[in-house]
Amino acid sequence: MSNVRGPRTKEKMREIAIVENGSILIEEDRIVAVGAFEQLEVDFPELVKKAKIIDASGKVVMPGLVDCHTHLVHGGTREEEFNMRLNGSTYMEIMNAGGGIHATTKLTRDTSFDDLYEKTRQHLDTFLKHGVTTVEAKSGYGLDWETEKKQLEVAKKLQATHDVDVISTFMGAHAVPRDYKGREDEFVELVILDMLPKVAEQELAEFNDVFCEKGVFTPEQSKRILEAGKALGLTPKIHADEIEPYKGAELAAEVGAISAEHLLVASDEGIQKMAEAGTIAVLLPGTAFFLRAPFARGRLMIDEGVPVAISTDFNPGSSPTMSLPFIMNLACMHMGMTLEEVLTATTINAAYALNRGEQIGSLEVDKKADVIILDVANYKQLQYFYGMNHTNTVIKNGQVVVQNGILLKEQ
Ligand SMILES: [Zn+2]
Repeated sequence: MSNVRGPRTKEKMREIAIVENGSILIEEDRIVAVGAFEQLEVDFPELVKKAKIIDASGKVVMPGLVDCHTHLVHGGTREEEFNMRLNGSTYMEIMNAGGGIHATTKLTRDTSFDDLYEKTRQHLDTFLKHGVTTVEAKSGYGLDWETEKKQLEVAKKLQATHDVDVISTFMGAHAVPRDYKGREDEFVELVILDMLPKVAEQELAEFNDVFCEKGVFTPEQSKRILEAGKALGLTPKIHADEIEPYKGAELAAEVGAISAEHLLVASDEGIQKMAEAGTIAVLLPGTAFFLRAPFARGRLMIDEGVPVAISTDFNPGSSPTMSLPFIMNLACMHMGMTLEEVLTATTINAAYALNRGEQIGSLEVDKKADVIILDVANYKQLQYFYGMNHTNTVIKNGQVVVQNGILLKEQ
């Protein structure tokens, strides 16, 4: 893979460059070399001699997984709504009745920083045990500055204390707060004039995201919010075309967003524009699965040349899972993606969706030593033995942090 730069597209998404019986030489937190053990002994005799050997015979070794779209920091759970949906209510009905995002907003506002930190820390432990070494975390369950800031500061503290890398996205425009109903533009102004400058000034996030959806934020409002963030150095992301087609994919290409997310009902034209602009499609099949919605057209997007990443969308309403391997399975079964494509979509392409494609997402020299060892004989078994966690060992920044499926230390 070493000659390719940028997110992988089309047939490049299938080229996963397998090294049979290979070895990886790690020094401190970096990958020094990849290849046959005998060759590493010749090229790096001193390093190999003093190295601690981890035997991964009969297993699969691959880059740590990158979960590039989560709503990691939030108060409470919403299993009652799940039960309501099973009994016939729709997601939008629940949201309009004060459930959905609004319910989590209240719970997140009411949860203290320390409790939120502890809850999120436990979630990160679970991600790590599933082989995920980098997680994106969006705010957006505060919808007021105090709580948005609390969410972002929890993520920032965890980035400093937890082995999993946590990369923050500000998403103040995740919903219109109930007290702004009918005054949506006033809330947009609050996000643009008050919240975004504070996020940038206090260095609380790298990305700026907005929920562009009928009944939430219009494409015009979304554009203003994303452009305002861009002017402050925040890279645009966008929740687009999730429930109704709304030209969100087109907008993502137009504003130069690094990625557009969901895209369940993205138009042909929008997909074309994303391919031309190189916008990464972050597809979230867990959400379609859990809401019993149509799946995004992943196969078509790849064939049209859109770089595709997939992610859990971990959140308490529409995708309460921390298992990226299960999401990979859904992408195979319901979006027509191949076994190779889902690996690319959760490693190098996901890394590029977080602007980290040069540091993580593949096992290449000089990259960060984020490596996982899986209890399967070959990569095809990963999805074949579905619904299971195959993670045996996680090496994060060159250190073993999960061994035999167990976390080695309290994070
Ligand atoms: Zn989301």
